[in-house]
Amino acid sequence: MSIAVCWFRKDLRLNDNPAWGSACSNGAVIPIFVLEPSLLESTSQRKKDVLFSNLIALQFELESVGGYLLTLYGPSKEVLPSLLSDWKATSLHFNKDHAPAAKERDKVICESLNIDQHGHWGNLILPPGTVVSGSGSVHKVFTPFYKKWVTIDKVSAYESPTANFHTQPRISESLQPIRETPSFETGSSGAYQRLKNFLPKISEYETDRDYPSINGTSLLSSDLHFGTIGPREVLELVGNETEHSASFIRQLAWRDWYAHLMDLSPEIVLSPANPVYKKIEWRNDVDDFDNWVQGKTGYPIVDAGMRELMETGFMHNRVRMITGSFLVKHLLIDWRWGEKYFRHTLIDGDTSQNVGNWQWVAGTGFDASPYFRIFNPIRQSEKFDKEGTYIRKWIPELSALNSKQIHSPWEISDEELNEVGVRLGTNYPFPIVDHSFARERCLETYKAARAN
Ligand SMILES: Cc1cc2nc3c(=O)[nH]c(=O)nc-3n(C[C@H](O)[C@H](O)[C@H](O)COP(=O)(O)OP(=O)(O)OC[C@H]3O[C@@H](n4cnc5c(N)ncnc54)[C@H](O)[C@@H]3O)c2cc1C
Repeated sequence: MSIAVCWFRKDLRLNDNPAWGSACSNGAVIPIFVLEPSLLESTSQRKKDVLFSNLIALQFELESVGGYLLTLYGPSKEVLPSLLSDWKATSLHFNKDHAPAAKERDKVICESLNIDQHGHWGNLILPPGTVVSGSGSVHKVFTPFYKKWVTIDKVSAYESPTANFHTQPRISESLQPIRETPSFETGSSGAYQRLKNFLPKISEYETDRDYPSINGTSLLSSDLHFGTIGPREVLELVGNETEHSASFIRQLAWRDWYAHLMDLSPEIVLSPANPVYKKIEWRNDVDDFDNWVQGKTGYPIVDAGMRELMETGFMHNRVRMITGSFLVKHLLIDWRWGEKYFRHTLIDGDTSQNVGNWQWVAGTGFDASPYFRIFNPIRQSEKFDKEGTYIRKWIPELSALNSKQIHSPWEISDEELNEVGVRLGTNYPFPIVDHSFARERCLETYKAARAN
């Protein structure tokens, strides 16, 4: 009898899942998920809660079609080979992962197995190697990548096939208890619901997506990270025909692009993609970093973003750009510190997406924001949170300031601050660095690195 093991990883769904499809057509299926101790250790409790909640949802989904999800605990390199041999499995099915550590793990496991192995690309719209420049490599600039990306035929999303389940070969390891139930519905049903809620807003996406106080984006990033919905299915449900839908789908092309770049150049996890910036002399002041993490920089828009992140595990994209730029360019703290903190704390924290975006913000990446573009946190705040609604939500101590004052409270007289109960240095900090000074310091530092 053929026994096909389907190893779920960042694809916690049955629809549009090529690994699941190929397992179901290769014999009696054993669906598994391996809880990797090293990954659990480096993940925030909130993200673990989302993972466990997604796993429970997948378990229900499998039970509803007569099956089960077998959860195992331990380094998959050690756990899988012996179990597959005990079960006399004839094939292993999984969706490939482009993150360097996952690729290395999969290579070791696949080399140690003597059974059929079916690796698929299920978590990107187009797999690495399919969108290439004239020189046969990944475009290093996004626009030509995107122009090519839109012209390539995409594989349709699969419907979940009927499965014939093998008898459950052992009892599942129990999941760690969920400490705080996620504030949103998890699993595939939650992902579809989010997409459904977003579709009526898509015509406003291009204009609304930059404003953190407007609920104008899809909020699908965590679903796409855990794979509770497949990006090809999102593409099909949204369509790419209108200007509005194309603007949204373009973001999924960025997602593919960062994944393709990481697949080609895994060293960018730790190293600037543009070697010109290898010699930046970072200040790496630990107290400044801590103030940034805690949302105590004295710049309201930066602090609001960092507090949103700490309290929810999410941050709006525009504010990610502002807070990231502030850390790197105003405080001259190595982007890798920020990347690590974001990856640990964000519920959508994802190696390729986070590294790609951090390198963009730092100006060190492929097609990055130029080094001399230094976001002014006050102007950004006035432009993208004009009324201060987002700031008031996350920094209630500033909520009585009017929409002109709220972006830079240190410019207000003590009398006016007193009237609204703001005491700088007591209940809200003074700015930890002056914007003009920080801007000049950053330009000099980057120029020095370029000259070296
Ligand atoms: C410093 C920094 C770090 C980031 N880290 C991550 C991360 O770890 N994981 C992550 O998924 N996104 C990351 N992003 C990208 C972006 O902020 C989030 O994908 C987005 O905010 C998620 O919200 P949404 O799903 O409502 O996005 P929408 O605007 O609805 O976009 C739809 C989808 O497109 C993709 N997308 C959108 N913007 C980007 C982008 N700039 N780069 C790549 N893909 C994008 C995401 O998958 C997103 O879910 C980061 C951005 C910055 C500036």
